[in-house]
Amino acid sequence: MSGEFNLIDKYFAARQSNRDDVQLSLGDDCALLTVPQGYQLAVSTDTVVLGTHFLSDADPADVAYKALMSNISDLAAMGATPAWLSMAISMPEPNEDWLAPFCDSLFALADEHNLQLIGGDTTKGPLTISFTIQGFVPQGKALMRSGAQVGDWIYVSGALGDSHAGLEVILDKSKAEKPFAKHLVRQHFRAQSRIDFAQSLLGIASSCIDISDGLISDIKHILKASRVNAKVHIDKLPVSDELIAFYGNSTQARNTALMSGEEYELCFTIPQKHKAMFDELMAGSDTKAHCIGQIVSRDDIEDTSASFIQFLRNDTPISNEEKASIQQGFDHFN
Ligand code: ADP
Ligand code: MG
Repeated sequence: MSGEFNLIDKYFAARQSNRDDVQLSLGDDCALLTVPQGYQLAVSTDTVVLGTHFLSDADPADVAYKALMSNISDLAAMGATPAWLSMAISMPEPNEDWLAPFCDSLFALADEHNLQLIGGDTTKGPLTISFTIQGFVPQGKALMRSGAQVGDWIYVSGALGDSHAGLEVILDKSKAEKPFAKHLVRQHFRAQSRIDFAQSLLGIASSCIDISDGLISDIKHILKASRVNAKVHIDKLPVSDELIAFYGNSTQARNTALMSGEEYELCFTIPQKHKAMFDELMAGSDTKAHCIGQIVSRDDIEDTSASFIQFLRNDTPISNEEKASIQQGFDHFN
C-alpha cells in the first residue's frame, strides 16, 4: 500500500516499551523472541472483517478492543499469560481518522496485559484485521478442552447473556428504550476476558474453554474433545439483574444466556478431588463462578436426541417442547 511505511512508523512502531524477551521488534524481516525455560508457547489467531464482525458505523476504538479481547480470551482459556502480538491489517486506503482511535485503543488494552506488538503486515484491501497472540503457559499445564472426566463439576465464570442482548439493541434500535439497553451495548463491545482468573485455575480445573460462540456450542467442544456428556441446570445459569430487567423475565434471560457468544467468560470443569482447593480459591477471588451441572458418561443420558447435553430445571429434565424451542433459538442464533 502506498504510504505503508509512514503508517507503520506513525501508528504501529515505538508505541510500547520493550519486553525483556523481545530481542527484535518491528522494523526487520522477522521479530526475534525468547520463550522462558519451562514454558510452552500458546498461539492463537483471530480475524475480524468489516460487514461480518463489525458494522461501518462502529467506533474504531471498540473494534480494536473487541478484536484484541477475543484474541486475549483464547489465551485465557488455556491458562496462558499474554506476551506478544502480531497484526495483519488490510484497508481500502490509508484512513488515518480511523487508524488513530483504533491504535490508541489497541495499545491501551495491550499495555494493560503487558502484550507487545512485535510485527505484522499492512496491505490494501477490504477492511480486515487479523491478530496473532502468543503467550506462555507452564510446560504440560495448559487448560485443554480434552480433560473433562465423568463426575467433574461444570462451572461458568461471571454472568452470561449480556453481550447478546447488547447486540440485539445494536441491530434493532427500537430496543434502545428497554431497561439497561445502553449498559448491555457496552457489555457487548467491552466484555472482559478472565485472564488472571484462568491462570489461577491451572492445576485445579480439568478442562476449560472461553465462551465465544455461546455456552451450548462451546460446552459441546469440551464434551466432544473429552468424549463425555453433560447435565446442565438451566435455572442455575448465572444472569445479571440488568439482563432480567431488559427481558422482563428470567426465563428469557437464561435462554439467551445459553446461546450468547462473544462474552469471554470461561466454562470449565472441576474434579471432585480438587473441589476443596477450588472452593478455597473462590473464597478469595473477585471473580464469581457458578456450578451449572456435571459431566456424565456417554451412556448416562438415555435420550439421544438431546445429543451431548441434557437440560434440567428444578432437577427435572425439561420437556421435549422446551428442548425443541431451545434448539430453534440456537439454530436462529447461529
Ligand atoms: P516485509 O516487506 O519484510 O514484509 P513490511 O514492510 O511488511 O516488511 O513491514 C515492515 C516492518 O513493519 C516489519 O517488521 C513488520 O513486522 C512491521 N509491520 C508491518 N505492518 C504491521 C502492522 N500492521 N502491525 C505491526 N507491525 C507491522
Ligand atoms: Mg509485509
